Amino acid sequence: MTTLEIRDLHVSVTADGEAKEILKGVDLTVRSGETHAIMGPNGSGKSTLAYSVAGHPKYTVTSGSVTLDGEDVLAMSVDERARAGLFLAMQYPVEVPGVSVSNFLRTAKTEVSGEAPVLRHWVKDVREAMGSLKMDPAFAGRNVNEGFSGGEKKRHEILQMKLLQPKLAIMDETDSGLDVDALRVVSEGVNTIKADTGLGLLLITHYTRILKYIRPDFVHVFVDGRVAEQGGPELADRLENEGYDRFVTTNA
Ligand code: ADP
Ligand code: MG
Ligand code: MG
Repeated sequence: MTTLEIRDLHVSVTADGEAKEILKGVDLTVRSGETHAIMGPNGSGKSTLAYSVAGHPKYTVTSGSVTLDGEDVLAMSVDERARAGLFLAMQYPVEVPGVSVSNFLRTAKTEVSGEAPVLRHWVKDVREAMGSLKMDPAFAGRNVNEGFSGGEKKRHEILQMKLLQPKLAIMDETDSGLDVDALRVVSEGVNTIKADTGLGLLLITHYTRILKYIRPDFVHVFVDGRVAEQGGPELADRLENEGYDRFVTTNA
């Protein structure tokens, strides 16, 4: 049983020499096996939350805490966060020139688990994981993210998740740029990982589309750097019908 606890998190970003507070006191608890959807209008701070937990240097935590089973995540390096069982797709470089998917995955697995996987088992695991995600075996020989389509990037993300077996994953806008077929494959991949490993999931999305495939247990609506409303899956259905209008104050 793993618990990610975010307490009264305040985060600032410095732009043009000026610190601007983006997260204004976020509280959130995600346990093993739970899926939490973070929804909200553009610019409400959803990605900032993901980057802050990931340890992106641009985002400064000014107060509050993030713990994983009581361990201080904010005190950990990005690598330590991965070893502790956090999976954050954005911690990996966008493009890794000259490194094949196969070598990249093996290096990541070695880093996260602290030892190189036994080659014979590893090759089989990779082949099976790719098969379940309906990926062409030739994909393993391609260079990471070089010329990947949107769908291939997402499949690669899920492939990493399948092989690294994190305790808790944060997915930011995984549905953006996916056609319905790719969305279904990616969602099935995530659901299988959840069923197999009891993964806890923080699913960040602006649209309700992916939530038809990956049903959330809890929905949190982000507005202006805070959780403005929480509920169950029915809240996502309501947002689909009503949009975010009632959360956004307009100044006439
Ligand atoms: P969301 O993911 O909900 O669309 P973001 O977390 O990306 O929102 O952004 C929240 C606010 O913080 C926006 O006003 C955005 O302009 C600002 N912001 C986020 N990241 C940065 C950054 N690296 N530099 C400057 N401003 C940023
Ligand atoms: Mg506060
Ligand atoms: Mg975002």
